[in-house]
Amino acid sequence: MIIGGIQKSSLIDYSGKISCVVFLAGCNFTCPYCHNPDLVRRKPFNGSHFDEKKIYAFLESRKGFLDGVVISGGEPTLNEHLPHFLERIKHLGYPVKLDTNGTRPRMVRRLIDNGLIDYIAMDIKADPLAYPLYIAGSYNPQSILTSVEIIRNSELPHEFRTTCVKPMVNEQGIRNIAQAITVAPLYALQRFCDDNGVLDPRFFDRMGSGHDRDELIRLQAIASPWVKKCVVRS
Ligand code: SF4
Repeated sequence: MIIGGIQKSSLIDYSGKISCVVFLAGCNFTCPYCHNPDLVRRKPFNGSHFDEKKIYAFLESRKGFLDGVVISGGEPTLNEHLPHFLERIKHLGYPVKLDTNGTRPRMVRRLIDNGLIDYIAMDIKADPLAYPLYIAGSYNPQSILTSVEIIRNSELPHEFRTTCVKPMVNEQGIRNIAQAITVAPLYALQRFCDDNGVLDPRFFDRMGSGHDRDELIRLQAIASPWVKKCVVRS
């Protein structure tokens, strides 16, 4: 397991909590809009990888200040060592939120069944039937819907999220996603922002672009009837 970076405190990554974000390197997707290209290529943020023991020591020292830990990436569930890592973090007393692309349903189930996560946010990149058109990488497209079902059938607090980039996301795709996650407690439509570098800038020269505010509101109106709450995030 490679720890590619750490954000020592965040007010926005774990709702209602002051959290620390741990970024695990490596991903089985190549989303063109990815804002963490170094992590996808298994490189650290700032020149050196983080030692696992230093993470535990840091969390120990921040007890009473931090309310939770977010495990993000990259794609964290690719790491077989993840359950052990989370056990250690839980042992320190922290609630854990997991960010995942949902391609490792067996790991997702294992983490839920063993009480190693307290909140899960799963990204849904496009209409689940259209993944192979847009997302290159090593994964089984069926795994997306399997993870959705595992999460929906669990009692774990959760949300689903879609970063709205054309042509991967369109009105029919949002309708299909919303139907797949019916009665989800929260579905977030995320506005694409290209302020920082992305994994595949040429995608945006050729065809890609983010949805504007009015388009996002329209997508929200399409998804809202299917889920308990649908929000647009800037
Ligand atoms: S956006 Fe997430 S799933 Fe996509 S390539 Fe980046 S880290 Fe991987």
